[in-house]
Amino acid sequence: MTRVYLSVDMEGVAGIATLDQIIRGGSGYPRAQELMTGEANAAIRAAFDAGASEVRVSDSHGTMDNLLAERLDPRARLVSGGPRPSCMVAGLERGDSVALFIGYHAGAGTRGVLAHTFSSNFTEVRLNGEPVTEAEVNGLYAAALGVPVGVITGDDEICDVARKAFPDATKVVVKVSHGFSSADSVSPEASATAIGEAVAAAVAAADRGDLRPGAVPERFLLEADFSVPLMADYAENVPGVRRVSGRTLSAELDDPDGLVRMIMAWYYTAAVGAQQMAAIAHRR
Ligand SMILES: [Zn+2]
Repeated sequence: MTRVYLSVDMEGVAGIATLDQIIRGGSGYPRAQELMTGEANAAIRAAFDAGASEVRVSDSHGTMDNLLAERLDPRARLVSGGPRPSCMVAGLERGDSVALFIGYHAGAGTRGVLAHTFSSNFTEVRLNGEPVTEAEVNGLYAAALGVPVGVITGDDEICDVARKAFPDATKVVVKVSHGFSSADSVSPEASATAIGEAVAAAVAAADRGDLRPGAVPERFLLEADFSVPLMADYAENVPGVRRVSGRTLSAELDDPDGLVRMIMAWYYTAAVGAQQMAAIAHRR
């Protein structure tokens, strides 16, 4: 039994570089959905060709309903929609053979394409004092369930992070960042080929027992800098949260599940502050 779990984001997909492409309502969004679905299908096909008995796909971008379900490889199951527990790793289970992160992006404040960490309302998220990316948080969640990360795909910036964070994983650089909304990308066809090869190798490595889950630290000190204090005013009402400064909150969590839950609690409460700010700006 080889169970493959796929978490598919949108910012790190080949051919995608702008906000217009990744936000519902943008003129480029429908085509970006096709590009995202294409990379997901390349990974699904390669996983089954390499002997996977089961492939579960998590739609892990924004409202989590971007993948074109009717075009998805019919052998895969699709986890979509939200809010949902564990966010980008919803449906990941103990006993899964390998987790694959497709279309991922760099963290807030870096030079990666469409770089952010979970929310555009966080200017930086840190774990145990170091800046952290979505890939690393999700990788810790997987590690706590004993599941290794086998592949990570995206721009050169997130693949640089992954070289340190996931030494055993295959990194597939599908584009080179030229800025927040600019990239030099390979074609969708070339990215599908490269992703397929990486997934096949990762599934084979998982079957041989060559992939090990990452190390899980003993403590989880989470800190986030919010873009404005009003967002932190809302988010600090979550029990166990400490106000470090006007824009910064911290919390000590027991495990990666608690870590993801706290990030989501801050994500949604900060959004209330952001809505209020937008309403005021609109009236001016
Ligand atoms: Zn995303």
